[in-house]
Amino acid sequence: MYKMADAFRRMEEMGEISNKRVLVRVDFNIPLDPATGQIMDDSRIQGSLPTLVRLLEQGGRVIAISHRGRPKEPNRKDSLRPVADYLQDHLAFPVYFQPDILSDQVRQDSQDLKPGELLVLENLRFHPGEKTNSREFAQLLASLADVYVNDAFGTAHREDASIVGVPELLPAYAGLLMARELDQLNQILNHPERPYWAIIGGAKVSDKVKLLGRLLELVNGLVIGGGMANTFLKAQGYDMGQSLVEPDALNTAKELLERSQAQGIPVILPTDLIVAERFAADAPLRQTKVEDIQAQDMALDIGPMTIQTITEVLSSAKTVLWNGPMGVFEFDRFAQGTLAVARELARLSAAVVVGGGDSVAAVNKAGVKDKLTHISTGGGATLRYLEGEDLPGIRALKDAVRK
Ligand code: AMP
Repeated sequence: MYKMADAFRRMEEMGEISNKRVLVRVDFNIPLDPATGQIMDDSRIQGSLPTLVRLLEQGGRVIAISHRGRPKEPNRKDSLRPVADYLQDHLAFPVYFQPDILSDQVRQDSQDLKPGELLVLENLRFHPGEKTNSREFAQLLASLADVYVNDAFGTAHREDASIVGVPELLPAYAGLLMARELDQLNQILNHPERPYWAIIGGAKVSDKVKLLGRLLELVNGLVIGGGMANTFLKAQGYDMGQSLVEPDALNTAKELLERSQAQGIPVILPTDLIVAERFAADAPLRQTKVEDIQAQDMALDIGPMTIQTITEVLSSAKTVLWNGPMGVFEFDRFAQGTLAVARELARLSAAVVVGGGDSVAAVNKAGVKDKLTHISTGGGATLRYLEGEDLPGIRALKDAVRK
C-alpha cells in the first residue's frame, strides 16, 4: 500500500524550462459570436496568459491545448483558430496553429518549435478520444512534449484525456492559474477568517443541495436569494404565486432550515421581492413583502429591504463566498438585487471569493471585478470543489507526483 499524494507539483518546481517542450492544457472555452466569429469575452484567454508567458519567457517550446464548446465533429464554428489569431496579436512571441491534431504534421510542428515559440492545437473535442479518455489519444498528446502543465481549472472536474490521461504519461505540474484557484478555494475551505458568510442564489435548490449542506459545516451565516429562495419561502408556508418553486425540493429546503437552526447558523431569506406577471425583460414590476405575494405574481428579484438586511449582515464579515444571482439578472430591471450585492461586496474589507459563471458575469456588469479577492474561473469545477469533491484533474496531478 502507498500513501496517496496529497500535494501537486507547481510549475515553479519544474526546474530548467529552456528548450523543454511543454504541453499546457489551458481553458480556451470562450464564447464566439456565431455570426461574426469574433471573441465575445476574452477573460479565459487572459487568465491563461501568465502561465504561457512565463514558460515562453523562460525559453520553453510551448504547445497549448484546449477544448471549446461541445462539438461532435470538426467544424469551423468551434475552431480555436480565432484564439491563435488573438494570441498572435497579444503576445510578443511567435504563435503557430495546427488545425489537424491527428496529422503527422503535428509531431513535426512540435519538433520544429523553437524556444520561446507557441503552437496552438485545434479543439481537442473534435476527436472522440478526448471525452472518452482514450489511451491512444492521451499518448498522442503526450508524445508531443517532455512535460505537462494543467492550467484549466474550469475543466478539472472532467475525466478527459487531456486532463487525466496525459498526466499519467508525462511529469505533470499545476499552472499558475490552477494553483491560484486551488490556493484561494483552500483558504476559504480550510482557514477562513471569521465571521464567514456565504451568499447563494441561482435558479434551483436541487442543483446546490450538496453545496448548501457543506456550507452549513463551514460558515457563520448564509444568505439565500434568487429563484431558489422561493422554494425555501414556500417551505416556510408562504404562498409564492407563479414564482419558480421546486415541489420536489421542499422537504430538502425544510431540512436545511432545521439543520441551520439546530446549529445556530442564521439563514437570511428575502423579506421583500420584486415581482412581475410575466417572465420578460419589459414586464411591469412591483415591489412586495413576501407575505403579500398575489396569485399572479412571479418573484424575479430581491427587494430593497432584503438588500438592506444583506448589507447589514455582511458589514462585519471577514470572508464571503458568493455563488449565484439574486434574481433574473439577465433582464436589467430584475438585476438590481444582484448588482447591489456585487457592489456591496466590493466595499467590504473582507476576503471575497466569487464562483460560478452567473455571479462572475454580475461582478463584471457591476464593474467591481478588480475590488474582489478572487473570481473563480470555474463554474461546475468550483462548485464541485467547494462541495468537497476530489476533482479528477487535481487527483491526476497529485498522483503524478509519485511517478
Ligand atoms: P444558476 O445557474 O443555478 O446559478 O442559476 C442562474 C439562473 O437563475 C439565471 O439564469 C437567473 O436568471 C435564474 N434566476 C435567478 N433568480 C430567479 C428567479 N427569481 N426566478 C427564476 N429564475 C431565476
